[in-house]
Order: sequence, then structure tokens, then C-alpha cells
Amino acid sequence: MIMTVNLQTPVQYLKGVGPRAAMLLKKLGVLTVEDLIYFFPRDYDDRTQVALISELTSADYQVIRGEIIDIRQQLTRNHFSVLKLKIADHSGSIQAVSFNQPYLARLFRPGMKLIISGKLEFSSFEGINQFIVRDYEIDTGVNPKIVPLYPLTKGLFPKKLRNIAKTALDNCLADIEEWLPEELRLKHKLCGLCEAIEHLHFPAKLSQTVPARRRLAFDDFFIFQLGLGLRQSRIKAEAGISYNIDQRMLNDLQEALPFKLTSAQERVLKEIQADMQSNHPMNRLLQGDVGSGKTIIAALSSLLAIHNGYQVALMAPTEILAQQHYDKIIRLPGYQKIRVGLLTGATRKNKQVEKLDKHDLIIGTHALIQDKVNFEKLGLVIIDEQHRFGVQQRAQLVKKGVNPDFLVMTATPIPRSLALTLYGDLDRSVIDELPPGRTPVKTYFVPEDKRRGAYEFMRQQIKAGRQVFIVCPLVEESSKVDLKAALDEAERLQRDIFPELTVGLLHGRLKSEAKDQVMKQFKDGQIQILVSTTVIEVGIDIPNATVMVVEHAERFGLSQLHQLRGRIGRGAKQSHCFLLADAKSQESRARIKAMIDSTDGFQLAEVDLKLRGPGDFYGIRQSGLPNFRVADIIMDEKILREARKAAFDLIEEDVNSARNIWQSQGQKVKGAVAGATLN
Ligand code: ADP
Ligand code: MG
Repeated sequence: MIMTVNLQTPVQYLKGVGPRAAMLLKKLGVLTVEDLIYFFPRDYDDRTQVALISELTSADYQVIRGEIIDIRQQLTRNHFSVLKLKIADHSGSIQAVSFNQPYLARLFRPGMKLIISGKLEFSSFEGINQFIVRDYEIDTGVNPKIVPLYPLTKGLFPKKLRNIAKTALDNCLADIEEWLPEELRLKHKLCGLCEAIEHLHFPAKLSQTVPARRRLAFDDFFIFQLGLGLRQSRIKAEAGISYNIDQRMLNDLQEALPFKLTSAQERVLKEIQADMQSNHPMNRLLQGDVGSGKTIIAALSSLLAIHNGYQVALMAPTEILAQQHYDKIIRLPGYQKIRVGLLTGATRKNKQVEKLDKHDLIIGTHALIQDKVNFEKLGLVIIDEQHRFGVQQRAQLVKKGVNPDFLVMTATPIPRSLALTLYGDLDRSVIDELPPGRTPVKTYFVPEDKRRGAYEFMRQQIKAGRQVFIVCPLVEESSKVDLKAALDEAERLQRDIFPELTVGLLHGRLKSEAKDQVMKQFKDGQIQILVSTTVIEVGIDIPNATVMVVEHAERFGLSQLHQLRGRIGRGAKQSHCFLLADAKSQESRARIKAMIDSTDGFQLAEVDLKLRGPGDFYGIRQSGLPNFRVADIIMDEKILREARKAAFDLIEEDVNSARNIWQSQGQKVKGAVAGATLN
């Protein structure tokens, strides 16, 4: 029986695949023939460019052509197999080494001619240069070509995958439909879809992969941005609350503040105000570096909603931060008669939950999203340090109102490319200015043998009335070993180094009353040195603290270091940050250098994104990055911008055609964001 194969056929039924290979392909995320067609090589071997053995260099992968002179197979003690081939061409000879492919020994014979790709490496053990084999083929005398190298999984060999991919293309490439409107395609100088796919799999010249990749990356971004744009336009079309804004009241409030808003704060407040006045829901991201003054913006916006008879929910990621917002906001002008409630893990079991409808503003942690928490008339939802919450949690809180206005705040200066991807459906306001009178923090790298010097410096600062944070890493809040290290450190400092001072300790495992008490004592100056885990990372505001020591700074990410450092330098006095680190890896040295060189959160975020890649960036994996088939958020930022504009323009010009494309292509860009927010 001849089975006709189409795009939806499971790969198993493709000629040459079978159940075992199908299982291995599944591990690579390939289930259907279409998946296979969209499963692209990670690299290529250009076998048209052959190097002479005598001229090999160690810079990159190279291809050699030669004859097998000698074959030796070795088994190491732990049963690794090592195959050593002596290969010669007319220029010389070299030892080619292949690991863990014992069957090759049976295949090869002296006198055989091979084409081998690999890399020149010096073996210090043998004291000679060797050629480490990446891939090979038997030289049949026909012209060598460019060979795709696919991502592999154990048990699936390069040649096999290559053959399968070829079969898939031969059978079904013609079934792939061009979906991008001709006009758009030409306007953006993109090649056709089938051509792009074919050239990315089996280029005749490497230069063909460039336009091919561009087309397919464009598709990834375009489809994804289309989803974001459609979602945005749908929300903008929904009926929302149209707040009545009393400009006089707002001016009076601003007059009564202990400081004048920066012009960036004023601008942002106007943007929010316009959103609140409009009769569609606000959906806005407020970005501003640590210390730029987002809280006051949240507090003023809340008052606008409250004066219209609505309730406001303000969610923060930690108890300490929720408590601090509460303490600050109730003291602000305009809040004397406002009923402000606090709902955190600590208050969770109290009756407070039932009394929520008696409050105008409820500040809390994720305790706010529990099922039993209900609001009478929720009109504005504000989320602070939103990257700490998942997409789901944000949505859950919003659902407690009827199309409430929605404002998310973040101090994490997400690079533009990532913001366009993660929050591309939100309008964006940026506070790009710090309040006046701040002096940038000075940052130093302190090797272990200079530790004493840092302590002496602390002592002097404390004598002058300042306070100190000492941060110990707690990789996971539950790690007992790390916690003990922090406890021991606090004890050691108190006993051996600063017996005349008071050393406090703050960590996530403390009961909330204990946390509050420590924070209060630190705020009141009863504690001079606060040893803390990263629970202080977000939001804590104590301007008198001017020194920070970060232990094991090499264990923190760059953005986390920047957040931590943001706890100091909040007053006019010069602040100092000491990074104690065992900076062995190049990456940790790069991070520390970046911290010393810059206090600009956006700049540091760009460096961080490059060092770590988007996946690990701020644990964004949990909040969900789309799973692009080809596109790379960092490398392809230019294409991203172009595709976003094209998608948003199309929605504007012809929303039906945009919807049709999204409907037919949307599921092709798989990803948490698309899944969680775009339906
Ligand atoms: P973040 O943006 O990191 O949340 P905060 O809202 O905690 O920053 O503000 C940091 C500090 O700056 C607070 O002590 C706040 O009172 C103060 N602040 C905010 N805006 C101004 C301003 N315009 N002028 C002076 N100080 C300000
Ligand atoms: Mg804040």
C-alpha cells in the first residue's frame, strides 16, 4: 500500500523513519512532516571549501579530504571508545579522532578516501595536533557540497537526519503555502517561503542562507506580533471605565508632596491620566530604573480611581515590599481619609479577607489573587515589580474586576527587543530620569585579601552616622546551606568584627512579625549593619544606608546585582558598593566589570541579555518567551522591529486580513506568551 504523505502525517510514516527514529525526533519536538520541514540546521559544513592538512588552523571548523593510512580503536577504562585515524592528503598527514562511534571501526579500511569536517585541537596528553571529527562522508569522487548539521539527540545520527529532512522536503515542500501577502513580501524584500525553507536546509551556496533566514525570522516575529497587536486592538475596543479627573485636586496633591515630581514622572502621570480618562481599559507598562520614583506615580493614580468611587489593588512580590508601600502610602498627602488595607501571607488567615470591600486601596502580595478575595468595585490594578509574577497571576488579579485599568511597573530595565516581545501588547511609559540630588554609587571589586579594608571603611561610615547592608546569596530561598552561611556570617561579624555595633539579620524564612521588626529597627537606626539575603532585592527604601557589601557577587546575575545596589545611593550622600567575589569565570568577571563601569540599568540590562541570553534573563522563562522556529530576539532585533511595524500596520489597514493570517498561522509560533495571553 502506498501511503500519501502530507504535512500533517506523523514523521513515523515517512520513508526511512520508523518507530525508533520517530521517538528520537519527538525528543527534538518533531512530530509531523511539517515540524520536520520547519526543523532547521544549526550550522553547515561547507565541503566545497577543502583545507590542506598542512595548512589547518585551530580557529574554526574545517573540512579535509584524504586517505586513511591507519586505523586504531581504543577503549578507555570507562568504556568510551576512541577511534584514531591517520589521514593523509598530498600536503601531509594528521591524526583524526572520533569519540564514541565504535561502529566506524568496522566501516573504515585503510586506503578509503574520506571527506571529514572537524576542528584542529592540540592534545596536551599526546603532545600533538589532532583533528577532532564532527562529521564525515566517504569520498565518492563526485563534487562535495554544503551539508546541513541539525541539532541532534543521542542515537540519531547526522546522516540519518539529513536523509529524513531531504525526504520530507522532496515529498511535501510543495504543499507549504505562501501566506504572506505578496505586497508585504515585496515591500520588505523577502524571498518566497518555499525558497527560504529549501535554502535554509540545503543551500547550494552558504550565501543563500542569509536571505532565507531573514525571511523565516521575519515570519516568526510577524506572526507573533500580529497576535500581540490583535490582542491590543481588542482590549482597546473594549468598554472600560472612564474616570473623571479633577485636575485641581491632582495639582493640590502634587503641591503637598515633600518634593517636586521630575519631568519624567509628570509625563508618565499624564500618560496614565489620559488612559484612565479614556473609555477603554488602560493596559500599560511603567518602566523606570530603581529609585526613579514609581511608587508615588502608583499612589497618585490610585487616588484618581478612588475619588471616582472605585477600589484599587496594588500587588507587590514580597511581604516586606507590600508593608513598605503600605507604610509610605498612608502617610502621603491625600490619603488621610482613604481606607488602605494590607493583605499578605501574614494577614491571610485573618478576617481581613472578608473586610476587603471596606477598603479603597488594598496593598498586598500574591495573597491578593486567592479565590476568596473579592472586590466590590475594582477599577484599577497595579502590579509592582511585575517580572516576579507570571502571566497567569497578573490575569487572575485583573479578572477580579470588570475590565479594570491595568498598570504594571518594573524596575528591571528590560532591553527594548525583549520588551517588544514580552510586553508588546502593552503601552509603555518610561521614567528615564532619577530625582535630583542623587549621587551615583561608586562600585569596587574586593578580592578576599582586601576584605579587612572594606570592614574598616564600613566602620568609618557608621561612625559618620551611615548604615550598611551586607548581602549573602541565597540561591534558593529554601537552601539550608546558604541560609546557614548567612546566619553564620551575621554571628561572625557581630562577635569578631563589630562587637561595639548592632548587626541585624533578615531572610525570607523569618516570620513576618520578625521581618517587620528587623526592618523597623534598621529604619530607626538601632541596627547599623543589616546582613540580608536577597529578600531586600526589590524596593526597600532606606536612604541612610550608604554602604553595601555583596558576598559571593559571582553568584548573582547582573540585573540582580543592579537591583541590590539600588538599595543604596537613595539619598544625596555618596554611596559605596563592594563586590566580594571569587571571579574565576570570564562571565563573572565581565559582570563585575560592567557593575563597576555603569550605574545605568538599561545599559546593564543590555550587557546582561548578551551574557546570559533571553531565556535566563530575569527568570523570564517562567513568565514565558515564545518559542521561535528561527528568530533570535537578540541577534535579529532589526528584523523584529521591522516585522512588528509591518504587523501593527496591517492591523491598522486591514484588520480582517490580519485576523485571517493570525488564524491560519498563529499556532505556528508556539510559546507560553502566545498560549497564555493571546487567546
Ligand atoms: P522605585 O521607582 O525604585 O520604586 P521609589 O518609588 O521607591 O522608587 O522612590 C525612591 C525614593 O525616591 C523614595 O524615597 C521616594 O520618596 C523618592 N522620590 C520619588 N520621587 C521623587 C522626586 N520627584 N524627588 C525627590 N525624591 C523622590
Ligand atoms: Mg518600587
